[in-house]
Amino acid sequence: MIKFLDIKKITDSYQPDIKKAVERVVSSGWYLLGEETSGFEEEYANYIGTTECIGVGNGLDALRLIFKAYIELGIMEEGDEVIVPANTYIASVLAITDNNLNPVFVDADINSYNLDLSLIEKYISPRTKAILVVHLYGQVCWSEELADLAKKHNLKIVEDNAQAAGAFGRSMDKGLRSLRRSGSLGDAAGHSFYPGKNLGALGDGGAVTTNDIELASVIRALANYGSQKKYVNEYKGLNSRLDEIQAAVLRVKLRGLDEDNQHRREIANYYFEKIKHPDVILPKLSSNVSSLISLDHVWHLFVIRHHDRTKLQGYLMNHDIQTLIHYPIPPNKQGAYNEYNKLNFPITQKMHDEVLSLPISQVMTMEEANVVVDAINKFYVLS
Ligand SMILES: *Cc1c(COP(=O)(O)O)cnc(C)c1O
Repeated sequence: MIKFLDIKKITDSYQPDIKKAVERVVSSGWYLLGEETSGFEEEYANYIGTTECIGVGNGLDALRLIFKAYIELGIMEEGDEVIVPANTYIASVLAITDNNLNPVFVDADINSYNLDLSLIEKYISPRTKAILVVHLYGQVCWSEELADLAKKHNLKIVEDNAQAAGAFGRSMDKGLRSLRRSGSLGDAAGHSFYPGKNLGALGDGGAVTTNDIELASVIRALANYGSQKKYVNEYKGLNSRLDEIQAAVLRVKLRGLDEDNQHRREIANYYFEKIKHPDVILPKLSSNVSSLISLDHVWHLFVIRHHDRTKLQGYLMNHDIQTLIHYPIPPNKQGAYNEYNKLNFPITQKMHDEVLSLPISQVMTMEEANVVVDAINKFYVLS
């Protein structure tokens, strides 16, 4: 069986260091808001390239807290609008609605599967306060034009970096020095360390990164009952903390993240070179470079399209190959969002009908990739 994602094998690849890190915390007797968390925050901020990092409970909380802090700071207020891709995981949208802000959905680009940046401007109204860009499937959604547009309309750019830990924003032929990691491109970013993400903890975890010191201090307080000083509560906060064990594990795994991502690029490259089927649509690279050196993609998911993906998925299952669908139903078509069910986004809908995610990870072998390639190339649908 080729698993979609072998998380045990990923954890094993970091042993014995993970065991040592966990043991260090267990025997320390200190489990929250301690040295491991502050150590990870410093290391992750350094890695991403921001001055501030706040460890929080999970990726959804990271995004929720960013908007909540903007509201506390008077930069946004209830009823304001936030532009969000129609094609995303529902967490991106929940972070907005949970703060009584209104999501304004914008369709995807059929080539990148990310937010279609060329459509954004016509959705901007006097109440628009932010653009939530999602680096979906691990590919950075970013351009200098987007930054200019945000500046022109005085909008915050919030990044949902849950799927793209370690990716770089593309600079237009400006050389390596102007490369910046996703998570440092906008005004603030939410990160997820859910076990299945490229940088995964052994449970829930998340972080906010930003260069905005004031925002960071409000988020740090909000995540800790709205308190900066014990028993003094400035805000109606919540409890959302990265614990010491997860932080210690993440410190170990962060050191291997770039190498892990490079292995994912090698698998992706193999798929690009070897999958040859007239009905299978491979992802498109946004730049004219090979997937091996394309730093704007960390291949959290390798998403192909097929007009009869249910059949393809069943066929691959029969060949002991696990695949998943990211995602079968867009957020605005979910029961949770009745009020938006009537909205239609043709590209997003097409994707949700056709996408299939192939196995890919930092521990997948080339032999396994070869089995996947072989099976797909022999797939034949009688029509
Ligand atoms: C996983 C994910 C989240 C939420 O992260 P959690 O840690 O599971 O709360 C948010 N946005 C996107 C795009 C994700 O993939």
